[in-house]
Amino acid sequence: MSNDNLDKKSTIHLNSNHHAEFININSHLYEELQREAEEKHFTTKNYFEIILDRHLRRNHMINRIWPELQIAGVDEELILVVNVIDKKFFNVRLHDKYLFCEQDKSTGCNHTAFVWMQAEDLDFRW
Ligand SMILES: [Zn+2]
Repeated sequence: MSNDNLDKKSTIHLNSNHHAEFININSHLYEELQREAEEKHFTTKNYFEIILDRHLRRNHMINRIWPELQIAGVDEELILVVNVIDKKFFNVRLHDKYLFCEQDKSTGCNHTAFVWMQAEDLDFRW
């Protein structure tokens, strides 16, 4: 049974000097990114490259600023952050418009900043 109409894919060809790969992505996602690229006056190709580069630079920055912190678990609106050096755990809770660290009683400690920096990676139920 085909569900082509529900699940159309667009193909991106990734190519570097040493590797070439085809990736199929959801057509809706492709069209959204293409629209964003046009708004920002980039070609779609350049925009994909910028997004991938930005993603890696963000991850490097997170690792450089907080090498001791890791996300140990996510349970709906609760993010468990662990300091692997001190072996301490921190409950960062997602509220409507802010994150709150229950151990520091703070919206602005390292743990909330650490979670904000990767909020897009977490499957929050906003
Ligand atoms: Zn904290």
